[in-house]
Amino acid sequence: MAAPADLQRIVIENCAIATVDADDTEYASGHVVVAGNKIESIGAGKAPEGLQNVVRRVDGTGHLVTPGLVNTHHHFYQWITRGLATDHNLFNWLVALYPTWARIDEQMVKAAAQGSLGMMARGGVTTAMDHHYVFPKNSGDLSGAIIGAASDMGVRFTLARGSMDRSEKDGGLPPDFAVETLEGALAATAETVDKHHDASFDAMTQVAVAPCSPFSVSTELMKQGAELARAKGVRLHTHGSETVEEEKFCHELFGMGPTDYFESTGWLGDDVWMAHCVHMNDSDIAAFARTGTGVAHCPSSNARLAAGIARVPDMLKAGVPVGLGVDGTASNESGELHTELRNALLINRLGAHREAALNARQALRLGTFGGAQVLGRATQIGSLEPGKLADLVLWKIDGIGHSSIADPVTAIVFGAAAPVTLSLVNGKPVVENSRLLNVDEDAIARSARDEAQRLARIAAEA
Ligand SMILES: [Zn+2]
Repeated sequence: MAAPADLQRIVIENCAIATVDADDTEYASGHVVVAGNKIESIGAGKAPEGLQNVVRRVDGTGHLVTPGLVNTHHHFYQWITRGLATDHNLFNWLVALYPTWARIDEQMVKAAAQGSLGMMARGGVTTAMDHHYVFPKNSGDLSGAIIGAASDMGVRFTLARGSMDRSEKDGGLPPDFAVETLEGALAATAETVDKHHDASFDAMTQVAVAPCSPFSVSTELMKQGAELARAKGVRLHTHGSETVEEEKFCHELFGMGPTDYFESTGWLGDDVWMAHCVHMNDSDIAAFARTGTGVAHCPSSNARLAAGIARVPDMLKAGVPVGLGVDGTASNESGELHTELRNALLINRLGAHREAALNARQALRLGTFGGAQVLGRATQIGSLEPGKLADLVLWKIDGIGHSSIADPVTAIVFGAAAPVTLSLVNGKPVVENSRLLNVDEDAIARSARDEAQRLARIAAEA
């Protein structure tokens, strides 16, 4: 497919390339040509000669080029409540943190989103997502603040507009003052979709409908949320099957396990992806595979909250789409996704399949193409192929951390987190030499600290 001659081109050469295409094509030394916001050509050896409008040539010697990483589950606001309730399981941790979270405002959420996004972008994330579900009364335009932070940074982004309407008085987990009404949540979610969702091929912002979890949301909000998403043609996201306590809660309240409950409320389908899915039996996994329901695997968060090990090898074997998630940074303080490639591989080897659980290339696929599938964007991002969007990362692998590992993919998955020399999103540079290009990283660090302190003060006074 020839690009119009007037498009600006970036040429990257002399690098190892892992395309993560359907055949796992790799080049020991190859080239990528970016024209405008798309990949024009990719292959072994030097770029074709005679290219017009080349605005930049990058010598990729000592680097591996991969698709940009895709994060499929996060809660940005938690950036300002990290390091708290560090020895709790999920339910105790939630109960400890809800009263603080319910005091967030627009300025805090903006600072937290910048911190979350910045940390991920520096580590090779080119598509981010935020599942935001805490909307205190009169807290300002939280969705607008989050979307603005992603657009300022230049990262591709999905906002999963969350909600909670099942508080303690209705048998739920959040305190009464931390939830919205059913009608209020649905109306605000519809408004966010109408205002911000872009359905085009190269969209930088998309919106999903995302009630928080079975234990914080009414059955009516699950059902009507699914109907709303389908009427608007957007995706559905929630938390599912995270812990044994959640499973018990579902049996007590609904008389069935989480997967059956999701099915009964319209929440299985190829337009749905769910975070965690740790406690799944064979028939749950078969139901996900049959319906094309996706999974956001969050290994570090699952370990931090002692939730368990998701059966990723069994899901992949059954044909379930699986991506990776940082999860909120109150349960994964590092906030990085590139380290989750390694953690997904290592943690799954502690499960039933032992050393055959996942290999380095499968881990890279989870963090790239798998994420694109889960977000419904597999034709646009997630692999390096002509005609797809130019979201890519140059990982430096000739430094002290990686130079003695011969295989480049093994180096970035098994080795330390590799530095990012350059990342492109939509054909535009976002990170260069491990620094964010479009925003002031030091200012973000200062405002995240200030807003974390302000929230702690307000929560202590309450
Ligand atoms: Zn989560």
